[in-house]
Amino acid sequence: MKSFLVGGAVRDTLLGYPFHEKDWVVVGATPAEMIEAGYTQVGRDFPVFLHPDSKEEYALARTERKSGPGYHGFVVHADPAVTLEEDLERRDLTINAMAMDASGDIIDPYHGQQDLADRVLRHVSPHFVEDPLRVLRVARFAARYHHLGFTIAPETAALLSQIVAADELPHLSIERVWVEIEKALGTTHPEVFFHTLADCQALAVLLPELSVSQGIAALARAAPHTPRLDCRWASLLSDLPEARVKAINQHLKVPNAYSLLATRISVARPTLKTALKNASECMVLIKLLDALRRDEPFEGVCETLIALEQNSDEANTTIELLRNACKQARTVTAADFTESRLTGPDLGAAIEAARIEQLREVLP
Ligand code: ATP
Repeated sequence: MKSFLVGGAVRDTLLGYPFHEKDWVVVGATPAEMIEAGYTQVGRDFPVFLHPDSKEEYALARTERKSGPGYHGFVVHADPAVTLEEDLERRDLTINAMAMDASGDIIDPYHGQQDLADRVLRHVSPHFVEDPLRVLRVARFAARYHHLGFTIAPETAALLSQIVAADELPHLSIERVWVEIEKALGTTHPEVFFHTLADCQALAVLLPELSVSQGIAALARAAPHTPRLDCRWASLLSDLPEARVKAINQHLKVPNAYSLLATRISVARPTLKTALKNASECMVLIKLLDALRRDEPFEGVCETLIALEQNSDEANTTIELLRNACKQARTVTAADFTESRLTGPDLGAAIEAARIEQLREVLP
């Protein structure tokens, strides 16, 4: 048996880009031999093993044949006769289809090194169209390597459109779609991910609301000013009405922290300026943001609003005022009313009135 480093680790080593995971392919071995050598089997759909010491993933070389729609519609064939080149051929992009042997030599039957040098994302074979997940993966790589000058080869862009036109995207699980969106939000140019999806019509299927909003432009403005993925997601949805934002988050099964922040932004943004001119309205906003009891999502709201305005002085002044208002309102607590003997709704109303008084002192 022989092991080769493959996939992202080879690509990013050649690119001089940091990577976090090493994936290996093993040629000429059976599952029994792997277990005999001390590996633990983990793969459910195909034979993947964990190295006894490094715990890195070692997959037996395999081929795949399309058997049905979607990401899982494949018959996998792994046996010791499958060659490294055959395994590399089933991969999505040429830059992801290279291997490195133990002495550091690169095996590159699909010319990934040339495409790395030319900064091109290109599919390996016509079988590319068989897995709709590749639309999202290519869009994500386009976003991740945009600052290095990568673009999608026109032939590959045509295949992305072909996958979408064949109505393959609805076969992807919503969870998988969100995983890719979340990873894309963490790239240096997340807007490129959404532009790529728009270009091949995938956006109209996955997030139709965005096709007609200014959300992608808002994300492009905000991303350089916040590393927080939830703030970037909220920026993307910032110009949609609350009901739409809620529907999108529900449909994509977005984690709570993301959906809460996105909803709060869509509510807070239009009312912020007026709320900061009037103590009662400011109190309404502070309660709406749940800012009296918790730091989040309030801090996320502040960061998103500043990022959306590209960290401008005006935005910083506005948010400083909102933070001060919140701090001032927090100074009033039920403990201030122990002697009044008020209870229930009366106590609540008294606290609120006192907080509004406090707000009058900080608001212009
Ligand atoms: P990342 O840095 O995002 O982890 P990666 O390329 O290592 O990038 P993985 O999802 O870990 O991505 O996949 C490892 C390798 O497996 C890829 O480089 C590619 O060769 C192959 N691969 C993964 N998913 C697919 C797919 N849907 N279609 C074809 N090949 C794939």
